[in-house]
Amino acid sequence: MITAKEYVATVFETVKKENQHEIEFLQAVEEVFASLVPVFEKYPQYIEENLLERLVEPERIVSFRVPWVDDQGKVWVNRGYRVQFSSALGPYKGGLRFHSSVNQSIVKFLGFEQIFKNSLTGQPIGGGKGGANFDPKGKSDREVMRFTQSFMTELQKHIGPDLDVPAGDIGVGGREIGYLFGQYKRLRGFENSVLTGKGLTYGGSLARKEATGYGVVYFAQQMLAARGENLVGKTAIVSGSGNVAIYAVEKLQALGARVLAVSDSSGYVYDDNGIDLELLKRIKEVERGRIRAYLKDRPTAIFKTADQDHIWSIKADLAFPCATQNELDEEAAKTLVANGVLAVIEGANMPSTLKAIDYFQKADVLFGPAKAANAGGVAVSALEMAQNSSRLSWSFEEVDRKLYEIMAGIYEKSASAAKEFGQEGNLVFGANIAGFLKVAQAMSDQGIV
Ligand code: GLU
Repeated sequence: MITAKEYVATVFETVKKENQHEIEFLQAVEEVFASLVPVFEKYPQYIEENLLERLVEPERIVSFRVPWVDDQGKVWVNRGYRVQFSSALGPYKGGLRFHSSVNQSIVKFLGFEQIFKNSLTGQPIGGGKGGANFDPKGKSDREVMRFTQSFMTELQKHIGPDLDVPAGDIGVGGREIGYLFGQYKRLRGFENSVLTGKGLTYGGSLARKEATGYGVVYFAQQMLAARGENLVGKTAIVSGSGNVAIYAVEKLQALGARVLAVSDSSGYVYDDNGIDLELLKRIKEVERGRIRAYLKDRPTAIFKTADQDHIWSIKADLAFPCATQNELDEEAAKTLVANGVLAVIEGANMPSTLKAIDYFQKADVLFGPAKAANAGGVAVSALEMAQNSSRLSWSFEEVDRKLYEIMAGIYEKSASAAKEFGQEGNLVFGANIAGFLKVAQAMSDQGIV
């Protein structure tokens, strides 16, 4: 009889062999697999059902051509994807990312993470992800509209309110969701919950825009409370300046923390007085500009380009990587630890490398992994679906209260799984196990499918 350790190692070897060039996907798989040996020791029937090898193979991947015409009349082609990874718990659910770095490895890593994240929320949603190697940055509204309409013309064949429900991610915000929804409606009719993150005038949920960032901070609150700490008077750095970062800053400030710096791909802004949130929103949400513009209104702030320095060299109590995958490597982790960081809470998906996570854990830094800490966005997406189905809309306060409860529940599940399986305080381990157990049970109950 094969041991649990041998089983997990054998499946990982197969995954490596079958997906050799998918570096990010393999990284996400490796991180989850490293937590699962004790689970297979406890439930050997899952080995018999070869559950892991089934789970790690997406149910379906669609890849398609997206032709579009720019404002000068030139014809372009991009590649679109939808990975329908697991429907064990419900319809595929997960965002769409429009960014030049998008490829099959990226959408698969995101889809794989989404399975466990969605499981942790406790809501009936499976895992999926999609996107295109199209960058909305620098494109006109009309170009973005033509691209998204072309993208949806193909995507609509594969999605539906009870089948697969996309939402936003990097490069896909309210504007893109609006155009996507409009095009879906032309082709398939008005089906409100086919997308989430919708505008408030056509079925969106209050507090969805804020949900990921707020949720990250609610999760941080739970982590700090377990050590008898809170956010009041703490300094924080938040990488990124997109939707997740902006609303993490907003909630951090509301709860009494001082946010010293934010960034974008061009560099970071340091403001010792605390980041001016209204200015940040104006630059990023209204003008869609670069973070450097902050200095025009706040000349005492400091801007460093990405070549000069990185945000992780700033001394602060709390670090929130809210930009993108692998933005925080071992070197950065060392700098943060040397500067006495108390906690690192991931707002982006897989922002820390495996070595960085390892370094934080050995240094006894509180570490909140993305699939637990940033689940607030998708959790409120599921609440949006619930509101759409019941044709009701809840108040901001009601959605926010539910979000808070869901985040506290995710912390509780992760912390207690870590304890039960022998690594108390290790939230990476606990979140992976708690997320996996529900999916495993559902797969097992549904037979070999
Ligand atoms: N893209 C977000 C995430 O990484 C949200 C997905 C959704 O709302 O479906 O979880």
